[in-house]
Order: sequence, then C-alpha cells, then structure tokens
Amino acid sequence: MRKIQRPVPACLLTALLVTLLLVTGCQKQTEPAQSTIFAMDTVMNLTIYPPEKQDGTQALNSAVEQIYALEQEMSATREDSPIYALNHSGGQWVELPQLLPLLKDSLALCQQTRGALDLTTYPALEAWGFLSKNYRVPPPQELAELAEHIDYTMLERSDTGARLPEPMQLDLGAVAKGYAGDVLVPALKEQGVTSALLDLGQSTIVTIGTKPDGTPWRIGIQDPFGRQDYLGVLELADLAVGTSGGYQRFFEENGQTYWHIIDPDTAAPARSGLASVTVVSPSALTCDGLSTALFVMGLEEGTQFWRDHPELDFQALFITDEGEIYLTPGLEEQFSTAQEHSGKVKVLQ
Ligand code: AMP
Ligand code: MG
Repeated sequence: MRKIQRPVPACLLTALLVTLLLVTGCQKQTEPAQSTIFAMDTVMNLTIYPPEKQDGTQALNSAVEQIYALEQEMSATREDSPIYALNHSGGQWVELPQLLPLLKDSLALCQQTRGALDLTTYPALEAWGFLSKNYRVPPPQELAELAEHIDYTMLERSDTGARLPEPMQLDLGAVAKGYAGDVLVPALKEQGVTSALLDLGQSTIVTIGTKPDGTPWRIGIQDPFGRQDYLGVLELADLAVGTSGGYQRFFEENGQTYWHIIDPDTAAPARSGLASVTVVSPSALTCDGLSTALFVMGLEEGTQFWRDHPELDFQALFITDEGEIYLTPGLEEQFSTAQEHSGKVKVLQ
C-alpha cells in the first residue's frame, strides 16, 4: 500500500523557518575566541568570531603562531632573525627569501613617499636611545653623520636575499605589523572566518567583515594629548587602520619631547606640526607604512601626497599639534568625534 504524502502544514513550515533563523542568529552571537599576546614589541589583542561549526580556537591559535613566526623573521633585535643577520653581515649577501615580498612592497612605499618612509633609520633610533632606553640627544655633528647613512636605496636585493653596506642597518618597525595584518587576513578567511578584529598593537588594527550583528567595527582614535581616551571613533568593515604618533614612544629632556618617528633628512625626531596620523586602507601594510610617512611629511605635504596617489587606495586623518582634526572625504561618514572634543573637523579636498 502506498503511503499518502501529507502536505506539511503552513504553520509548521513557518515555525521551522523561525527556528532556523533563531539558530542561525544564535550561532552568529557565539562568543568570540580571544587572545592577548606580547609580540613585535607591543601588546596585541585578537578577537575572532568562530567560523561555521568551529569554536574559533583553531583559527585563533593559527593566527598567534603566524604572528610569532613573522616576528622571528622581521625582528631587528632577535639574534636568530634574518634581519639581524643582514645588519651584522659586514655588507655581505644574506638569504631572506620569506621577506622578499615585504621588502618589495615596503621599498615601493619608500620610493613613492620620496624617502619620508625609509627602512634604514635604525642606527639613528639606536643613537637616540630608543632601543636600549638609555635616552640621549645626539650632538649635531653625530646627527649629520647618521643622516648620511639613512638611505633605503642602498639596499640591494637578489632573487633570494639582500645586502646593505656598513654601517647601515635595516628596521622594519614601521611596516611589520601592517605586513602581519596582510598575511593574517587571507589565512583567516581561508579558514572560514568572516568576522574578526585584530588589534596588532596601538598602531595597526585590521578588521575582517563586520561585527556578527552586521554593524561596523568601532575603532577609537587615541587622543595624542592624553586628555581623554579617544578623540573620536572610526566605523569600519573589512578595512585596516594604522596610526603613527609622537605620543606612542617618547622621552623628555630639558622640557623638549623626542619621539621614535625619525625624519630621514635630519636623523632627528620628525617635527612636522602633527601629533598623529591615521591611515585607512584595505591594505594594512599601506596603513602602517603611510601613517609613518605622512607623520614625517606633515599636513600640507601629506594631503598633496593623498591627492597625487589615488592608486594607493587610502584615506587619512591628521591631528595637528594644535588639536585640529583634518580628514580626507572618504572618512567623513565613518568618523565621529568624541563628545568631549570641542575642536572642529575639517574635510580636505
Ligand atoms: P610606526 O609606529 O608604524 O609609525 O613606526 C615607527 C617605527 O618605525 C619606529 O619605532 C622605528 O622603528 C621605525 N621608523 C622611525 N622613523 C621611520 C621612518 N621615517 N621610516 C621608516 N621607519 C621609521
Ligand atoms: Mg607605520
């Protein structure tokens, strides 16, 4: 006897659909996998919402491992790193095949910024005491000699390695976290991650997708003058952010503040009238490299650089020493100031 197929009642179908939506909703609300680590000389906070049918720990662990591996490759201070080997090779060729893509892309930024970004400021940082924390102000003659040896064009590359003449030294501090972001994002997406916030230290934050509820991530822009936590908030999805500011690493002597962003022309801390620069772009390397470079350039030159380089696909937010906020039009909708901030926001053209 054939069984009679009874049609599923419409009310049951509706109930099923609602249950399914609720289940999907519940999955989206799942707690994120989170980790705080110390790497690349900074504290990093990783927040990863689990991909389907996972709890996120696997994706999180692979990201942490990847960060430590990149740190080992890019560190100028670790004696087992290829950068350390390059800096102590006496001008010989050193094999660093893993770093060649990073070197290619960041040297392109050095060239585009006409040397405002220069990966050879390391001896100057050392002379100012930023590595040992024995801070000092080098005399003018010493600074002139240091500036003579800041020149990224002296770095030679082959298919597998690089070399740098003595006494020059390479430092990836301005681009390392951005590069790490650009490596982590595709790796996490490949594992099914569609929602993540990777805070790779104060200066580089990378977002994947939106928050699980579909709203953009809210990124606080730090008050460079320390009067409040945040000057404002950027709302972003699937974009990276890089901030460079004199407040991030500095020392004071005789009433003067000296920070870690070096003007390659003078080998001294860059004083361009800016307190911080934030760059937003799909590429974290672009954010990291350009925030450092635009800080060196200052507002006027930095704005002109933005006008001249649409192919770099970035937007910028400048905070001047006077506390004025300038932003490029692409950030107008995304940025809102904190209530306490009374200064005006000006949109650049
Ligand atoms: P960031 O925090 O990304 O602005 O990078 C600052 C770090 O980059 C410093 O701690 C130095 O290691 C390095 N650095 C300083 N000045 C420059 C510069 N003009 N170009 C490239 N790297 C720099
Ligand atoms: Mg940088």
